[in-house]
Amino acid sequence: MNPKTTLDFFYKISFLKDLPDLSFLQENASDGFYSKGEFLFKEGEVGDIMYIITSGYLEVFKENRVIAKRGTGEYIGEMALLGNKVRSASARTISDVKTIEIHEEHFLKFLALNPQAFLPLFQTLTHRWKEDLGIIDSDNLELKKQIQLNKKYSRLLDDTYNEIFILEQDTYRILQTNSKAFQNLGYTADELKNTIFNDIFQSLTWDELREKFSNLITKKQIQVSFECESKRKDGSTYPVEVRIQYFELEDPPFIYAIVEDISDKKAMELHIRELAFYDTLTKLPNRNLVIDRLEIMLARGKRSSKKIAILSLNLDKFKEVNDSLGQEAGNQFLIKTSKRFEGSLRKEDTFGRIGGDDFILLLPDLDDESFAITMAERALEIMIKPVEIQGRQFHSSFSIGIAFYPNNGDNIETLFKNSNIAMHQIKKKGGHDYQIFDSSMNDKIIARLNLEQDLRKALKNKEFEIHYQPKVNMGSGKIDGLEALIRWKQPNGKNVSPAVFIPVAEESRIINMIGEFTFTTACRQIRKWCDKYGSAVKIGVNLSGKELDQPDLISKIKKIIDREDIDPKYIEIEVTETAVMSHIETAIDILLEFKKLGMQISIDDFGAGYTSLGYLKKLPVDTLKIDQSFIRDCTDKSNAAIIQGIITISQEMGFKTIAEGVETQEQHDFLKNLECDQFQGYLCSKALPSDEIARLIWPD
Ligand code: C2E
Ligand code: MG
Ligand code: MG
Repeated sequence: MNPKTTLDFFYKISFLKDLPDLSFLQENASDGFYSKGEFLFKEGEVGDIMYIITSGYLEVFKENRVIAKRGTGEYIGEMALLGNKVRSASARTISDVKTIEIHEEHFLKFLALNPQAFLPLFQTLTHRWKEDLGIIDSDNLELKKQIQLNKKYSRLLDDTYNEIFILEQDTYRILQTNSKAFQNLGYTADELKNTIFNDIFQSLTWDELREKFSNLITKKQIQVSFECESKRKDGSTYPVEVRIQYFELEDPPFIYAIVEDISDKKAMELHIRELAFYDTLTKLPNRNLVIDRLEIMLARGKRSSKKIAILSLNLDKFKEVNDSLGQEAGNQFLIKTSKRFEGSLRKEDTFGRIGGDDFILLLPDLDDESFAITMAERALEIMIKPVEIQGRQFHSSFSIGIAFYPNNGDNIETLFKNSNIAMHQIKKKGGHDYQIFDSSMNDKIIARLNLEQDLRKALKNKEFEIHYQPKVNMGSGKIDGLEALIRWKQPNGKNVSPAVFIPVAEESRIINMIGEFTFTTACRQIRKWCDKYGSAVKIGVNLSGKELDQPDLISKIKKIIDREDIDPKYIEIEVTETAVMSHIETAIDILLEFKKLGMQISIDDFGAGYTSLGYLKKLPVDTLKIDQSFIRDCTDKSNAAIIQGIITISQEMGFKTIAEGVETQEQHDFLKNLECDQFQGYLCSKALPSDEIARLIWPD
């Protein structure tokens, strides 16, 4: 039988009214086996083990007289557990016997850990012992043992960590205490004796105490426990948990109280509460408490028809402080920032930190939106003054998103989500401002997420294709280049423009996969044409700014060129001016690498961004592609001047120019006049599948 079950059983067959923690005993008990006729112990022998019989039978005998039989489910040798080491009888098996054996040392530790087990144990043992002695019939021995047990009993009382009180049944007078009790309370044992229990546990009224005790005495409850305060002799108090039991079988019956000092437990509870509901750094309410408060506000709001504002505040430039001065400075920054709100809130408002540099402000009971706006403005205002950290001044501000109950949601999740969406919206616009949530924001985000999912599927299902748009030489009128442009035809037949999905792809790693697809397809096309016609045309491949961030970009490109076995001179990399300028340091290196590999570089949508001409000199550029916005209305004076300017710079720096989006002869002639080298646009052709393009370049 497994010790656990047996000990459970031990618990049941024995005496304990209150379930002690048996794990300690379970871990330390051992199994025993005795064959028929074997002695477990002999009279006069020294032993310190108690046996629980888990199968078989044995007899107990003294001076050749059998005084008892014990079988499965009973125990024997229990006196050894209370230090009565000399066995007063012998135990011999009358069948094979299995036991669980509990050693004195472990049992005493168990009692110290579970003081509530002590008295019932004591009571049971005394009864049993009396029973056995009745058979043995020896007055002297009984007396001796009684004295021994009483000694043991007081020692064990004093061994426990808790205060123990034995009370007179009707008067609640203290009859006996242990040393822990008078140590804790600051009285001597004599002073405590005969004191009324209620004089010490003053937080209870007489009536309350009487009710608790009468529940015990009338056996409504076997044990009563309650928390109250103990009062020391010096008048100070401490929290305690009291557990009382009634011993009616004793003569006279008495009440037994175990009193545990729970000061540490209470302090821990308070600490845990603080940990659970307050941010350890700023001492502001944390996410749990904010949610809790909002829940209460919503319940009230639903009854009152008032509005609630939820403001999501995120610090601008917090990362800079953290990165430049370290985390400790970052923490100081958060503490100082949160302190600035002190005194700005009404007592019903909640300002909490929900993680990192994210804060929430809850404003309940509003008649209209104006107070929320005022508070958002105040939050911006209090951040105008720089925050001083380690002698340095830091300017920061908030991006604030606002959602209102009930207009923008009627539950916590939606309201948090919506105020957060609005916050991100304003952050994108540069921060240091507030924005009220509007439901179209949500639609946009959902649409974007759906599109992202569709893009992943499209890559897997090969829904993308590359079309090629001719680049025409102004002088000869011949096609002397192409631009690879991706096309996405969805299974439902709908075409989605790259102008729509490329920006979405750029927000995740999808753009890298698209880039790889376009580049590979263009290279493969070059290989095919070279095989078929002996040569190919240069193909411009667009590279997103986000792709420039890949550390292995060059090696990936090189691998594709090698694999498809093409001459890199047929590839022209198109990077937009904006992408180059926002990655300028890495862009210069990467473009130089491309150049080294033998590819050409053109700067796409040129004129639409802000190029420092100084940088232009450092870039290994071959061609500037004039942005179509200028071509569209090139008769406009300022557009004409810009086009003219770009072409002049280009010529000065030794670059070629190409105009994109040329749709009319007029635009064409105007550009030709200015000595633009190439053009691209519907005037010649839109982007076409490879076979159609091949027919244009290599007519039969
Ligand atoms: P882009 O590189 O500036 O490409 C030129 C865009 O102008 C193409 O739009 C092209 O179809 C369009 N276009 C050409 N001629 C005319 C014209 O005469 N009139 C007008 N109104 N438009 C003309 P598309 O194909 O929709 O591509 C839009 C943008 O998407 C591209 O601008 C490029 O930035 C990006 N893109 C397209 N394919 C890829 C790709 O494979 N990879 C990357 N990273 N971006 C791509
Ligand atoms: Mg392009
Ligand atoms: Mg362009």
